[in-house]
Amino acid sequence: MPRLKAVLKPDDPFLRPVVLDGNSFPGIWTEMMPKAMFELRFPEERRATCMNCPKSCHDGFRADYRCCTYHPRVSNFLLGLGSETEAGDLAIDRLIQRGMLLPEGMYSTPGQWIDFLDDQQQDAFGASQKVLCPMLDQATGYCDIHAFRNAVCSTFYCFSDHGQTGENFWVQIQTLGSQIELVLAQWSLEQVGFDLDRYFKAFDKLSEGIHSVSTQEGWTEEALSALWGDWRGREKELMRACAAVVTENRDKLWAIANSQLIRESVPFDRAMDTIVPEHLEEEVEGEELEAGAEVTLKPTDTWEQCLEAHARLWNWPKGTFILSPNVSLVPNARVTDEEKFCADKDIFIEYRFAKARDCEWRLGITPAEAELVSAFRDDGRSLNAALGDTAAQSLKDAQAFLTEMLNRKVLWPKKAK
Ligand code: SF4
Ligand code: SF4
Repeated sequence: MPRLKAVLKPDDPFLRPVVLDGNSFPGIWTEMMPKAMFELRFPEERRATCMNCPKSCHDGFRADYRCCTYHPRVSNFLLGLGSETEAGDLAIDRLIQRGMLLPEGMYSTPGQWIDFLDDQQQDAFGASQKVLCPMLDQATGYCDIHAFRNAVCSTFYCFSDHGQTGENFWVQIQTLGSQIELVLAQWSLEQVGFDLDRYFKAFDKLSEGIHSVSTQEGWTEEALSALWGDWRGREKELMRACAAVVTENRDKLWAIANSQLIRESVPFDRAMDTIVPEHLEEEVEGEELEAGAEVTLKPTDTWEQCLEAHARLWNWPKGTFILSPNVSLVPNARVTDEEKFCADKDIFIEYRFAKARDCEWRLGITPAEAELVSAFRDDGRSLNAALGDTAAQSLKDAQAFLTEMLNRKVLWPKKAK
């Protein structure tokens, strides 16, 4: 029996998503993330309704790819686990055919990165013609590796129920997941006998010809041969071997993730900066690494930041709150695409930074929700007092709604006179 099949349990949780407060994450999170994460209350993100995508209905995103106009880096062990499903297995074949699969996993090329920067500058995220994730099944619009997608895809919500406070929380969880994924990808390669020193030396060498490592679709044959070494031709076997060793060590993944450093080819990263055309330079983020440096952030440090962001998300400050003067409640006219999309909501909250300014954002709400926030007009009140209102009692989760209103700055602390 192949090693991966032998180490997977019947109905293995690694092969199906785990759901936390309505959010679906890869099953491997049950072991690779800290156990305490599963005791946290996550924001439900009711407004990012992916299968009825608001962005594609009224905000210019492509109906087929929606926010998948992006090339995620998906670690080898996630792809290996994905190969246990028919769709995931075929998706890996597509990656191999395009030349987008490296030993660490799905990995876009320098040329594709420039395309992404160009899209960012043109504000074409969601509408790109050139940066399209190969893991999406164009016929169905589904992600072929949904239960095995990476931390960026798993934590992306185009609308966060809690506004910036919610986004900050998701960024921390995303950073944590991405760190662990990178460490485990490299650790598992070493465990299966893949020569990581040779791999990074090959990357260093490729930096000298950075302009000629990309094709339209993926990496050139020469680059692939240099990076894969004697594993060339056995790419899927390597993905599955990495998945097997990660699965075998399922009880130790958090400890492993905290005991290893992430390696990178500094010459290659530096060379990437040299290929950015002048007009795209502003799109490049990030700090420069010193020669020979390794990324030293530890998941335990990031986890502390996750907890802090979580506390900011749910803690209710004491005191009196009023309805922000930046907020208007207007009836849903059900005329524009957005209004029709929110047809089940009778009212919109509209937020402007100043009365004369354009609407910054609007949110469809129900009459009971409107009644609840309206009760904060004039003298205002405490959040706890509002929970006793009849309107609050008619909501499924008034506490979550009021927290959302607080984090979106619809409700403001009342200033002392
Ligand atoms: S997260 Fe993506 S797919 Fe989901 S609603 Fe937002 S844009 Fe649409
Ligand atoms: S991996 Fe899946 S969720 Fe992520 S961008 Fe690709 S298709 Fe979308």
